[in-house]
Amino acid sequence: EAQKEPPKIRRLDESVINRIAAGEVIQRPVSAVKELIENSLDARSTSINVVIKDGGLKLIQVSDDGHGIRYEDLPILCERHTTSKLSKFEDLQSIKSMGFRGEALASMTYVAHVTVTTITPGQLHGYRVSYRDGVMEQEPKPCAAVKGTQIAIENLFYNMTARKKTLQNSADDYSKIVDLLSRFAIHHINVGFSCRKHGATRADVHTVPTSSRLDAIRSVYGVSVARNLMKIEATDDDPTSSVFDMKGFISSSNYVAKKTTMVLFINDRLVECTAMKRAIEIVYAATLPQASKPFVYMSIELPSEHVDVNIHPTKREVSLLNQEVIIEKIQSEVELQLTNSNETRTFKEQL
Ligand code: ADP
Ligand code: MG
Repeated sequence: EAQKEPPKIRRLDESVINRIAAGEVIQRPVSAVKELIENSLDARSTSINVVIKDGGLKLIQVSDDGHGIRYEDLPILCERHTTSKLSKFEDLQSIKSMGFRGEALASMTYVAHVTVTTITPGQLHGYRVSYRDGVMEQEPKPCAAVKGTQIAIENLFYNMTARKKTLQNSADDYSKIVDLLSRFAIHHINVGFSCRKHGATRADVHTVPTSSRLDAIRSVYGVSVARNLMKIEATDDDPTSSVFDMKGFISSSNYVAKKTTMVLFINDRLVECTAMKRAIEIVYAATLPQASKPFVYMSIELPSEHVDVNIHPTKREVSLLNQEVIIEKIQSEVELQLTNSNETRTFKEQL
C-alpha cells in the first residue's frame, strides 16, 4: 500500500525570513525605542528626545545631536548586517558600542515605515530618506536639518496583524518607554533626555546634562526617592576569583515601596539580572521590618572578556563569568549598608 509522502522541504522567501527575524529583534514598541536610543548614544549624542504616538504603534520619533550618517552610507543604512561598529568576530570581545549586529534599523523597516533625517558636521543641509523592507524607497532628498539624526518609525507592525492586536489591547507600552528612558537618563548623566507623547506640551521624562548622579535620580524619580538613597561601592580585584567594580545607590530603611526598582548597567549596557535582583530583595526582606522593596541603581564594570554580550538579539541578558562570586560580594555590601542605616534609624527613634 502507498506510504504517505513526506512533505517537501522548500527554501523560505527572503522577505519571510527577514520579517520573522525582525519580529524577534523588535518585540514591541519599547524594543524599537531601546535600539534607537542606543544608536544615538553610540553616535555620541548629548541630547536625545523621544516623541511617542499611540503607545509607539503610530509613531516613535527619536532625535539626537550625534555625529550623523554619511550621505554615501544612506543606501545601505537599513540593509541587514550593515554596521559601522564591528568588522571582525574577535572585536566582539572588546566592543564598547551598544550596537554591533547591524540588525536594528533593518528589522524596523521590515515591520514599519522608517524615515531618516540626518546631517553630518560641516554640511550646509541634511538629507531625508525613507526605507521599506531593507531598501531605500527613493534617492535621499536634501532638507534643512539641525545637528544629528532624527529617525521616525511609523505604523509599527502594520504587516503583523496578530502582534498589532495583542499590543493594542495592552495600553502600557508608553509607560514601558518612560521607564526605559528613566533608566538611561540616570546612567548617562552627561546626556539630556526627554520623552513625551505626541502633541503633549509636558515631557514625562526630562533631564539636563549634569555631573551629579543624585541630581539626575532626583529629576527622574523624584525628591522622595533621592532623599532616601545611600551610596554603595564594592570592588574585587583578585583575578583568581573575579574582577569587578560596582558603584551605585540603594534605598535606605526610610524608603517605602511595594515594587522593586532595579536599574542595572554592566559595562554601560542596560541589562536585567534576575539572580542579582532576588539576592538584593532577600537582604531587604531580612533586614527591614516593614518589608519595603528596594530602589537600586548599580553600575558594574567588568573586564570585557568576562562578559558575553552576544547571547541574545535584544542584548538584554548578558552572561557573566563568576556571577555567583560577584552577586555574593554585592549582597554582603548591601547588607552592611542597610544594617547600618537601619540601626541609626532605630537609635534615632529611641531618642
Ligand atoms: P548597529 O547599531 O548594530 O550597528 P543598526 O541597525 O542599529 O546597527 O544601525 C546601523 C548603522 O547606522 C550603525 O552602525 C550606525 O553607523 C548608523 N546609525 C544608526 N543610527 C544612528 C544615529 N542615530 N546616528 C548616527 N548613526 C547612526
Ligand atoms: Mg544599533
